[in-house]
Amino acid sequence: MLLEIQDLTLLYGRIQALHGISLYVDEGEVVALIGANGAGKTTTMRAISGLRPVASGKIIFAGQDVTKMRADLRVIRGIGQAPEGRGVFPGMSVQENLEMGAYTRRDGAGIRQDLAMVFDLFPRLKERQRQAGGTLSGGEQQMLAVGRAMMTRPKLLLLDEPSMGLAPMLIQQIFEIITRINEQGTTVLLVEQNAQQALSRAHRGYVLETGAIVKEGSGQELLHDPAVKEAYLGVA
Ligand code: ATP
Repeated sequence: MLLEIQDLTLLYGRIQALHGISLYVDEGEVVALIGANGAGKTTTMRAISGLRPVASGKIIFAGQDVTKMRADLRVIRGIGQAPEGRGVFPGMSVQENLEMGAYTRRDGAGIRQDLAMVFDLFPRLKERQRQAGGTLSGGEQQMLAVGRAMMTRPKLLLLDEPSMGLAPMLIQQIFEIITRINEQGTTVLLVEQNAQQALSRAHRGYVLETGAIVKEGSGQELLHDPAVKEAYLGVA
């Protein structure tokens, strides 16, 4: 197991957002976390990346207990994240934004190699490498956020709603790129409102409701599960 979460609880003040979540991600997998607004998907991601302390439970990454490890050290260990809301630096060029993703690294040759890899995944970013991040379209900023996370050379890539706010054609594209990133060797944990796309691309998935996991299975099992279909895929 690359990532294992055991019985995680998390509080926002007196509000309990996670009620004992357990899940795992094996090396090489794409795992999707789906659920309605407010189910706790983003909160689970924040706990894994270390942006929010947990109240109880454990997060084990690559065999090491990282539950209390600082967020930046988790990045160095190999947990890369493209956060919800993108977080692109508007005044920096596309290339500078990508280089910021590699700020924890000192291997210049590796960084240049990864920059080429990101430009290969996202030709659009290559075309716009000198343009300011803030002038990119929403879809391009989303790509830049994913590209920047790849610059940390993650073992595990956390993606929070990569398809949010994108036009249908771009949604298709971003999911194709996620599949490619995975095929090139990166494990992916994906939070998505777009359950159809996420489950059809994922090896496995979990359904989150009000801070608890209510169902898990292979992507295909969940896609064909009547309750999942009705609640998340818009078909009865
Ligand atoms: P969405 O798809 O809308 O982002 P989500 O599944 O990611 O939903 P979370 O953002 O994880 O849900 O929120 C889980 C619960 O925690 C919600 O009830 C939310 O209102 C609450 N919550 C999230 N962030 C905070 C915060 N900073 N302070 C207080 N409550 C919060």
